[in-house]
Amino acid sequence: MNLNIALVPGDGIGPEVLDQNVLVLNKIGEKFGHSFKYTEVDAGGIAIDKWGEPLPKKTIDICKASDSVFLAAVGGWKWDTLPGDMRPERALLGLRGELGLYANLRPATLHKSLADACPLKPELVKDGVDIMVVRELTGGMYFGEKGRKQTDMGEAAWDTEMYSVEEVKRIARSAFDIAMKRKKKLTNVDKQNVLESSRLWRSVVLEVAKEYPEVELDHLYVDNASMQLIMRPSTFDVIVTSNIFGDILSDEASQMTGSIGMLPSASLGKGSLGMYEPVHGSAPDIAGKDIANPIATILSGAMMLKYSFGLAEEANAIENSVTKVLDEGYRTADIMSEGMKKVGTKEMGRLIIDRI
Ligand code: NAD
Repeated sequence: MNLNIALVPGDGIGPEVLDQNVLVLNKIGEKFGHSFKYTEVDAGGIAIDKWGEPLPKKTIDICKASDSVFLAAVGGWKWDTLPGDMRPERALLGLRGELGLYANLRPATLHKSLADACPLKPELVKDGVDIMVVRELTGGMYFGEKGRKQTDMGEAAWDTEMYSVEEVKRIARSAFDIAMKRKKKLTNVDKQNVLESSRLWRSVVLEVAKEYPEVELDHLYVDNASMQLIMRPSTFDVIVTSNIFGDILSDEASQMTGSIGMLPSASLGKGSLGMYEPVHGSAPDIAGKDIANPIATILSGAMMLKYSFGLAEEANAIENSVTKVLDEGYRTADIMSEGMKKVGTKEMGRLIIDRI
């Protein structure tokens, strides 16, 4: 395949971890006969410095014209005092909106060799953890009508949770499609015992389920889901839920994996164009020191191959190589433990590439 990828290195450790991802993708291209063409664009703090705004139009146009977008991280102390609209993080919301990305995929995978880093008791995770949280990204309370007014009890504020049938249908289909590529198990999380929006949400999920008879579907209320994630994490496969519930549950699930430096993510829309990014931020405290963990970024690259380009074998090659390197005891500082071999960002990248 010949693929055009827009690269957004951003700020802080962004460029360092992205470099390693590009080297890994180049190795995949070489080995499997694909050609990846990269176009680097500015967004975040660097774009504010160079162009006076966090998300220049040129960046949006190039991203829209690409087969996929890879974003490393944006933000940093230098821009922390700027007003909301001028903050580097606006670039993230702006790009997601411009690209029409409504499904956020947040895998939480506990590698066996990192089991010690998991805060849960070993017996709870002895069968491993491999969860994919599919979060609706553009609707619900974060985008609904909101406001303030005076009441008998003083000033009050409200945010509206609202979902349309079409919004739920498309996120449900995304989640069922992903479940079909995994263990064919989907847990729908809502709060239909209390919320009208959840009652509509669940009825639509049940309707869409008829298109996927092979997928085993169950339902949990969000409060129960947060408990079950801790009590029986190994039993989950794919979870689908709303924007606000997904925001919270994906962070809860991610804590089982050891370090924020291990967490990839993807945001998908209608077509194959997606945006792939590590969950972590720009980590200004460790930028430029060659100590950042590049694995979250490299695993986001594997997600891009799988979900945007349908290259499952190539994605598996990256994931298996990461597992091998961890099994052999190599660790960056954030996941270091006694008896392991400490390596820097570049060395971790090289070790992964060597094993592909
Ligand atoms: P952060 O994720 O950047 O860092 C939190 C902690 O985790 C820090 O101690 C950092 O050193 C560590 N860390 C993060 N990534 C790591 C890696 N790959 N390897 C090793 N250690 C790692 O979050 P923060 O400190 O709250 O935010 C820093 C800046 O990043 C802020 O400007 C914030 O707004 C921005 N941010 C951007 C994104 C994004 O671009 N998607 C996400 C979150 C935060």
